[in-house]
Amino acid sequence: MKTSDKKAVYAIASDRCNNNCVFCTDFSSADLRDNRSAVEKLDSRPGGRRIVFTAAEPTLNPKLFPLIDEAVRLGYGSIAVITNGRMLAYRDYCARLLASGVSEIIVSLHGARPQIHDSITGVAGSWAQTVGGLSNALALRSPASKVEISVNATVNALNLAHLADLKSYFLSLRGLKNIVFHGLLPAGRGRINWRHLSVRYSQLVSALVTDSGPWPVNVRVWDVPLCVAAPRIPETACEFALNKTEMIGAGGSFADIRSGKTGLAQCRGCSGFSVCGGVYSRYLKTYGASEFHAL
Ligand code: SF4
Repeated sequence: MKTSDKKAVYAIASDRCNNNCVFCTDFSSADLRDNRSAVEKLDSRPGGRRIVFTAAEPTLNPKLFPLIDEAVRLGYGSIAVITNGRMLAYRDYCARLLASGVSEIIVSLHGARPQIHDSITGVAGSWAQTVGGLSNALALRSPASKVEISVNATVNALNLAHLADLKSYFLSLRGLKNIVFHGLLPAGRGRINWRHLSVRYSQLVSALVTDSGPWPVNVRVWDVPLCVAAPRIPETACEFALNKTEMIGAGGSFADIRSGKTGLAQCRGCSGFSVCGGVYSRYLKTYGASEFHAL
């Protein structure tokens, strides 16, 4: 399993979004009017840490570029932006972001087809813009710039049956660094819509492990308990929020989710507990504990 001594800094980089995702962890209301604000100033002692500009949609904040400038000036070890990718469909904007000093752009795409993705984002045409933006980022990136392009997808009941297609689509794109599949987080709208959207971890793993060949080295899963993921998904491909992140900026519910995990009887003495951290209480209420066992 992958661990790091230094916590990454997750900076709330915008107070708005142009998507309306059914599982959004950044907003708990239906109308995107949560009381939240983007970070104004960065930690001046980065100590070589990674900073991730995320939440809600960083590219909608005109101050994103000054924030990236500040992160460069302060000497952060790496600078990432997580985006729904729609602004990257504008080639000038995409080129500007690629040249801004970022180390990695992570584009969120939840389906290989428009019907799936748009039903999740709630915005007709969002798939076309996101795919266009991802394509621009891969095409406009200069190899000399060393900016890496990654993707992530949140697994839920609306895309579970189509995950194999999405994984194949991602693997067909040349030049992606990481392909990350998240479990659904019981926070914000993910909590409100949990009953309709959640899937068992074992279903998620089965949907992703589609053949007996070697696991692709750049495909990773985020916050799926190790004892369910492994051995079909290698432990080295499993990552967790626990102990790895520190939030800056105000509002949103992502900051609280790590405290929502419970250590089961099975977790006591489990070699994976220090990174896995157990199971979300909300998950246990829905599905019970039968999938989990000590490693
Ligand atoms: S037994 Fe608990 S700590 Fe160990 S991998 Fe499973 S859920 Fe995580």
